Amino acid sequence: MSSRDILGVRVDDVTYAETLAFLQAAIAARRGCYVVTPNPEIVMRARRDAALRAALAGAALAVPDGGGLLLAARLWGVPLREQVRGTDLVYRLAEQSAARHQRWFLLGAGPGVAEEAARRLERRYPGLLVVGTFAGSPAPADDAAAREAIARAAPVDVLLVAYGAPGQELWMARNLPHLPVAVAIGVGGVLDYISGRVPRAPAWLRALGLEWLFRLLVQPWRWRRQTALVRFALRVLLEALRRRLGRRALRRAVAPPALAVAL
Ligand code: UDP
Repeated sequence: MSSRDILGVRVDDVTYAETLAFLQAAIAARRGCYVVTPNPEIVMRARRDAALRAALAGAALAVPDGGGLLLAARLWGVPLREQVRGTDLVYRLAEQSAARHQRWFLLGAGPGVAEEAARRLERRYPGLLVVGTFAGSPAPADDAAAREAIARAAPVDVLLVAYGAPGQELWMARNLPHLPVAVAIGVGGVLDYISGRVPRAPAWLRALGLEWLFRLLVQPWRWRRQTALVRFALRVLLEALRRRLGRRALRRAVAPPALAVAL
């Protein structure tokens, strides 16, 4: 599997099909690993947060969740094949898990949200077992309580960790080694969507790459976080320029000997 370095964060060049195959293999082998879903906001945060960088690097798989990552990779001439959105990944995995009666645990989100998400998942995907939910918090002081709740539900095939970045990545890096869980996925606001608390951008807006605009309209407090998108775009353009200039300098450096050989 090839990867891209997007401003210091590893992003794996995987498709939905490959990600699902990876997850099923991890469940079968009870690997005890975690998957992250980076986007431009997370990348910009990781640039100034060493603990987040380490937690991202410790993931078994980093799927290209944010559309901005695909744009950057394409601009740099190293395109990623498919955008693997965490939210859609969860729905697709739920379909497979239903057929295999796999056991899910939902961690995070506001009061009552994970319970409502569990009810909806079990109704929509008969066969899928949600064996536990726990809101808790991403603070290390609350790790023990969450671990206990998850241990009571063991064995767990899939643990969704919905604390948003960087809480969920740090939580998984700290806790996964101590849990009876085959695979965990950091999924951000996905329980808010599944429970119906927060509407998701319509598919046509997502296809246009405008999910961020919809989220800004629905949750205006996001504007401050979304300034990271502008900083990301500037960094990506700078890097594109650097790569282009670098290539030109390289061509100039190797041109004379190459010319000599040609003559
Ligand atoms: N959250 C939580 N506890 C916290 C902070 C966040 O449970 O201390 C939950 C929050 O309720 C939401 C999710 O984490 O369900 C983060 O959602 P957001 O949409 O901000 O995540 P993103 O997808 O942008 O990473």
